[in-house]
Amino acid sequence: MTLGLARYNKGLVKTKIIFITGGVLSSLGKGVAAAAIGALLEARGLRITFQKLDPYINVDPGTMNPFQHGEVYVTEDGAETDLDLGHYERYTSVTLGQEHNFTSGRIYHNVITKERRGDYLGGTVQVIPHITDEIKQAIMAVAPSADVAIIEIGGTVGDIESLPFMEAIRQLKGDLGKENVCYIHLTLVPFIKSAGEVKTKPTQHSVKELRSIGIQPDILLCRTEKFLGPDIKAKISLFCNVEPQAVITAQDVDNIYEIPLLLHQEGLDDRLVETLNIWTRAPRLEVWEKLVARIKNPKDRVEIGIVGKYVDLRESYKSLHEALVHGGLANEVQVALTYIDSERVEREGPVSLLSHLHGILVPGGFGVRGVEGKILAIRYAREQKIPYFGICFGMQLAVIEFARQVAAIPGATSEEFFPEAEHPVIYLMREWYDYRTDAIIRRDSAADKGGTMRLGSYPCVLTPGTLAGVAYGEAKIMERHRHRYEFNNSYREQLQNAGLVISGTSPNGELVEIIEIHNHPWFLGCQFHPEFKSRPLKPHPLFRDYIRACLEYKLGLPHPGGEI
Ligand code: GLN
Repeated sequence: MTLGLARYNKGLVKTKIIFITGGVLSSLGKGVAAAAIGALLEARGLRITFQKLDPYINVDPGTMNPFQHGEVYVTEDGAETDLDLGHYERYTSVTLGQEHNFTSGRIYHNVITKERRGDYLGGTVQVIPHITDEIKQAIMAVAPSADVAIIEIGGTVGDIESLPFMEAIRQLKGDLGKENVCYIHLTLVPFIKSAGEVKTKPTQHSVKELRSIGIQPDILLCRTEKFLGPDIKAKISLFCNVEPQAVITAQDVDNIYEIPLLLHQEGLDDRLVETLNIWTRAPRLEVWEKLVARIKNPKDRVEIGIVGKYVDLRESYKSLHEALVHGGLANEVQVALTYIDSERVEREGPVSLLSHLHGILVPGGFGVRGVEGKILAIRYAREQKIPYFGICFGMQLAVIEFARQVAAIPGATSEEFFPEAEHPVIYLMREWYDYRTDAIIRRDSAADKGGTMRLGSYPCVLTPGTLAGVAYGEAKIMERHRHRYEFNNSYREQLQNAGLVISGTSPNGELVEIIEIHNHPWFLGCQFHPEFKSRPLKPHPLFRDYIRACLEYKLGLPHPGGEI
């Protein structure tokens, strides 16, 4: 028996666990549903935590192609995780980390490492019990920190890959007791136009599949276009052996922040606390009600262009998309986002593609493809005085653009795409003090292609009176990073003399974290990813101020532009 379970059985830990599985097909919004459940339970005064169990073999999503897998979400502790952790953090007040996302690869890696070390004393190492025990241990390592742990299993029931996870969570109900575990299954109830009705068969099959591996769901979340009436719920209830009140309509919504309220209206949280025998107050949902009212009644609308590589899909910028929406909410404006292929900007020039926008943004990115188009877009934003926000790569390229055009450093570039460059204003720093690990990091450009990104939360001190200083209203902030290259201090003075404002640095001044250009409505680039910390109920200050500047630009209002 694992350590976590032993403590549990002694009554030292009283955490309740909700397992969420998915059926029929992927992309039904399991992550958002899990996050919304977290929001509802938090609104009842419960302490919650989350974990995502991903069945793929990669040890973590850090090296996975974001166009296949969606955004890589970065946590405070520097873990590169599944984007669902972003939903969990956005909908609730939790802060998650490395232990809140496990893949099959990581589980197997742990077991194989133990086997090589001789921990299994020559025994035959098997999926059951060794892999399943490792999974249970991973779950029990995070669950006890909260009243309720919400554990989402990636993939769809029936996948070969997810079987060990399914088996582990099946066992946990026996280990922990009936009242401590609740299984929620998310399925699809499609509306078939030609028949004019919704169909329950896919749900029936999916539940049948789940039951064949020993899991009887307690609650069904039915994703559907149409509201499910009592007759449909009764039918699903009968075929799936779930009480009619436990069949919950998860109807499609215009905005994902409506989901907690909709699930509450369907009685989901009542059902959960009943199943798990938890006594709580009624949920306080006023903040969510106000939020939804704001979303539905914007006073204006701004159009923002995100300039990226043509392959950049919405999914790979999930947090950015949300953070911009939050910035809009803070200003009561709707934010319309257009994704613009930077290679088109290169080919067609910026005017036809960008002149109608109220704000231009270059997001994080890697590699040389499309870089010159992004730089053109930045130049256009700077010269035409259109609000500009550069994030990570978008900050580095803004420095390059400024160096070339304003500071007259011809050929200024980054070592990332031109290692032998004469003027690498962005480069691989050879030696620096790392605040997170409290160590001096040394590296050389040849030896260090793949590894050592600066990952996770780092301190940054701000210059008062600058755009950043005003936005945060604090002297020192913490923000999350995911990059290899840095601002090159050999060019610092030259760039500053030409008018580049450095408004945020590491506390020792060594790492440039934020740059600005003044005499411009709003031009800011940051080396970190502020989008990872924005929440709908607490929009990030930089996104709030950026969207405000975009609105002012649209309305033709003068903006002080952070002049000191
Ligand atoms: N490619 C750049 C670097 O590694 C920027 C990374 C990013 O935008 N996340 O430094």
